Amino acid sequence: KLSVRLETVAKYVPRDSRLADIGSDHAYLPSYLAKNGHISFGIAGEVAKGPFQSAEKNVMAEGLTEVISVRMGNGLEVIQPGDADCITIAGMGGSLIASILEDGKEKLVSVKRLVLQPNINAIAIRQWLVDNDWELIAEEILEEDNKIYEILVAEKGDPLRPYRDVPFETGLLVGPFLLQRKEKTFKKKWELEKKNWKRIYEQLESAASSVEADEKKQEVAKKINLVEEVLDHEE
Ligand code: SAM
Repeated sequence: KLSVRLETVAKYVPRDSRLADIGSDHAYLPSYLAKNGHISFGIAGEVAKGPFQSAEKNVMAEGLTEVISVRMGNGLEVIQPGDADCITIAGMGGSLIASILEDGKEKLVSVKRLVLQPNINAIAIRQWLVDNDWELIAEEILEEDNKIYEILVAEKGDPLRPYRDVPFETGLLVGPFLLQRKEKTFKKKWELEKKNWKRIYEQLESAASSVEADEKKQEVAKKINLVEEVLDHEE
């Protein structure tokens, strides 16, 4: 049985996709989709030997070796242009996900959809999407095992369209669709972030004053303000 987190990622993989799951670890996601007949071809990419071997073992055990190709390599190195039309990258930090996309840009020509699940720092992905003409088309937020996860879905298009009805900077930070929905889990996430940043702010205040500390303090204060606006503007 798949986690709710990966099930939600799976929900956004179009039927009959040629899927590349990068950082697949045990290959649960492509295996699940292949077993359900949702995809007829998948690639499970892994940079680390242990997870790569575990992916191979699971794909073999499930009898899916004809459908899922397990490949060892860094990021999008494991695919050739044209191999995949949907890419999933889940369970890593947003900056790492953004750098995998950036480093493998030339592999994205045939890719129609990206489904990305950053554990932290989703803003790095939203920024990358805007800079590279990918349009965010959906966002999800969910809580499982006391952790809050975001899922970002993007297709080639007008990268600024989702930000038309929201303040751009706030939209980048918290997600333009999530900002408009303001679900319970969303509010919980940003209450927690706010608390965390307030603690950091207080630490910076009690530290010896320096140019760096002042700059950092301003940065943190700005984030606190953005989040307070998001949380306080309640209808
Ligand atoms: N995607 C699975 C999930 O969401 O359950 C596994 C997530 S696991 C926490 C992250 C995996 O990404 C690890 O197995 C790690 O080896 C792999 N990884 C990290 N950087 C990578 C890269 N540059 N290229 C391919 N895999 C990478």
